[in-house]
Amino acid sequence: MMEKPTCIDCGYEFRHRTRLKRPSRCPHCRSEAITYPRFSIGEKGVKKKKRNSTLSS
Ligand SMILES: [Zn+2]
Repeated sequence: MMEKPTCIDCGYEFRHRTRLKRPSRCPHCRSEAITYPRFSIGEKGVKKKKRNSTLSS
């Protein structure tokens, strides 16, 4: 499932592969308001999965 980021300002869709590197600005209107379906805005990298630490009693 590849969800492409879209510019909130003008609605520009990034057709390029943005999985590895995500667009910081919209090439159309130069807006930084880009929606990331899979990534949260403002967060660095991907969220780490919660590890079930082995509970040794
Ligand atoms: Zn735009």
